[in-house]
Amino acid sequence: MHAKTSSTSPLLPGLRLETAQQLLLQSGHALPERDAVGEEAWLQELIDALCEISSRDALTGLANRRQFELALASEIDRVARAGEPALVLIVDIDHFKLVNDTHGHAAGDLVLKSVAQALADCVRPMDTVARFGGEEFAMILPNCPPSFGEMVAERVRIKVQGRTVLVAPGLEVSVTVSIGGAFAPQWVRSSAPLWVERADQQLYRAKAAGRNRVCLEQPIVSLVSAEEKGLLFGTSQFQDFFE
Ligand code: GH3
Ligand code: MG
Ligand code: MG
Repeated sequence: MHAKTSSTSPLLPGLRLETAQQLLLQSGHALPERDAVGEEAWLQELIDALCEISSRDALTGLANRRQFELALASEIDRVARAGEPALVLIVDIDHFKLVNDTHGHAAGDLVLKSVAQALADCVRPMDTVARFGGEEFAMILPNCPPSFGEMVAERVRIKVQGRTVLVAPGLEVSVTVSIGGAFAPQWVRSSAPLWVERADQQLYRAKAAGRNRVCLEQPIVSLVSAEEKGLLFGTSQFQDFFE
């Protein structure tokens, strides 16, 4: 049921809510009847729904760049504390401009949606798949050993290659993707731009080598001992002894 578009809130009478409600209605978000829940609960639902649409890409429904950056920041934090291997993949559609030029922008949009769905189908619930911009997507794979990372990236490439998109009656289009990836350096606090930049360099390699391929930077092996890691992050069994 959609929200009524009446504007004022008895809880906060000065609040202007029309634009927020219009945005939600336009993006197909359902809201409960205002009378069915308390005023405060209704406002909370409105805020939650606004947060939801501001973290999604409108065309594909994937996480948007803002959400990707949030997820990346928390992954960097996790890698620095827990030392788990994590992988960032940048996925770029090959010769996508040609799809637009040949079949039109609307057909291009259908292809973008289809590739987005293929990517989302290849990951675990803990992974993040985002539209990074234009015809570029980004994926964060936490807790991802190198062999698993290679398998997922290859699975994505093959899945996209095997899909066809009906862009007009009787007209099917298929595309390929190039994928670049970089592992987070374990036990080191990387920065988001540096990590993405390293994945981007691998994407550049994949494009230069002929497209429709995966290039992953090899993970950097840490020589820090378990005890040194504990000292670094305050989890050492000797911590009290030294204080
Ligand atoms: P490459 O293999 O080197 O990646 O070539 P490319 O053609 O994929 O890359 P290029 O950067 O030349 O073109 C990207 C195109 O993506 C151009 C732009 O118009 C199109 N594009 C970006 N966003 C959208 C969108 O939301 N919808 C559609 N239909 N096209 C888009
Ligand atoms: Mg491209
Ligand atoms: Mg591109």
